[in-house]
Amino acid sequence: MTRSALVLGAGMVGVSCALSLQKRGFDVTLIDRREPGRETSYGNAGVLARSSIVPLNNPGLFGKLASYLGNRHAALNLNWKRAMTRPSWLLRFLWEARPSQAAARIAALESLTASTVERHRALMAEAGIPHRLRETGTLKVWRTDAGHDAAKAEQAFLAAHGVASQVLDRQGISGIEPSLNPIFHAGLLCLENASVDSPGAVTQAYAELFVQRGGRIEQAGVEGVGRTGAGWQAKTTKGPFEAEIAVVALGPWSMDLLAPLGLDTKLDVERGYHRHLQAEKGASLSRPVYDVDACYFMAPMEQGYRITSGVDLSQRDAPDDHRQIDMVTKSAREALPLEPFAGETWRGARPTLPDSLPMIGAAPRHPGLWLAFGNQHLGLSTGPITGELIAALVCEEKPPIDPTPFRPGRYIR
Ligand SMILES: Cc1cc2nc3c(=O)[nH]c(=O)nc-3n(C[C@H](O)[C@H](O)[C@H](O)COP(=O)(O)OP(=O)(O)OC[C@H]3O[C@@H](n4cnc5c(N)ncnc54)[C@H](O)[C@@H]3O)c2cc1C
Repeated sequence: MTRSALVLGAGMVGVSCALSLQKRGFDVTLIDRREPGRETSYGNAGVLARSSIVPLNNPGLFGKLASYLGNRHAALNLNWKRAMTRPSWLLRFLWEARPSQAAARIAALESLTASTVERHRALMAEAGIPHRLRETGTLKVWRTDAGHDAAKAEQAFLAAHGVASQVLDRQGISGIEPSLNPIFHAGLLCLENASVDSPGAVTQAYAELFVQRGGRIEQAGVEGVGRTGAGWQAKTTKGPFEAEIAVVALGPWSMDLLAPLGLDTKLDVERGYHRHLQAEKGASLSRPVYDVDACYFMAPMEQGYRITSGVDLSQRDAPDDHRQIDMVTKSAREALPLEPFAGETWRGARPTLPDSLPMIGAAPRHPGLWLAFGNQHLGLSTGPITGELIAALVCEEKPPIDPTPFRPGRYIR
């Protein structure tokens, strides 16, 4: 008998879950209030980050905290009012950064990112969009001589984890990115990373592949989810939908749906912004560039050069705070000949759990309800493996990676 599934949320994570369940014979209905890939999965830097294996809250964070707390750094904006409404979350986030946790969390991130490029390459071929994949790596650059040691240390760390990279000096940087202004002293070319020229269009194309294969997409707002005799029902603005199982993949909105079920996920958000700037005549980049000292990514996209900001720890739905994106827009124009900014500023929210690892697995105490969110800074990269892991767990197959670090029960009782 055909098994059925509702997948709630059509960002990169939800679309990937839908495709993976469909591949295993499920009749899948994918529900989103918008078109697929219009939220966080639209606005990211487009990096397929094989080399991002160190969690954001690592032991090095403690040394930087003092410089962040005055809210003058582009890396972090900490809204104190928000912090005070949920102090335990922030304390837990810091507690998870202690050195004793580092190795296990690095191993967990490594398991998620190892197959990133390979999985997207295969999906993009199947979806007919191989031209959107750029296998030119990513480039990290430093503005001072201290960058030489930092680049070498990172190269050694990555090599110990089997990830190839190349240290570059000023000449090496201009050899591969001649349009960058010569303000960078050191660089690290992360050879195994890749990138896409429109993360929203990639998510949309994967959703179209799902439909071509017989999947159904319903554009409707989900208002609640609950058990029925046969399985799970989603109450939506278009009426109820039912299936044997339901997967919650609502990214930074997942907690809204789960709280009424008594599931306190400990999910919170790190907001981020982007702007598109146009290059002056003749200037171009061949890969995303991360300016370490100024804290931004500058990624070539279909729409121009996308500048993405650091972390804004404000309430998810509070008005924009453009302090960080203003700072990094200025920094990006020092790095590359870019026209003045004229356009709209996009804001999104990275879904984040205190240990910087996603929640992937069965919801405690709610048989048939599955959770797939919290992919933080890496959800474009790790969407496909998240989908495969969920589908394997649902079907009781041997999982492609160890699911233990991602089990919902680590936070939800
Ligand atoms: C500035 C920035 C830069 C980033 N750069 C990168 C990067 O370079 N590489 C990388 O791998 N990751 C990056 N990320 C992280 C990545 O974008 C996210 O982890 C990822 O997009 C999360 O995907 P998702 O499917 O979980 O969430 P989303 O893409 O947000 O999808 C959730 C979906 O749920 C839907 N939804 C919510 N509530 C409801 C409801 N009630 N009813 C119906 N539908 C609903 C929304 O419409 C949305 O489509 C970045 C993030 C930001 C903010």
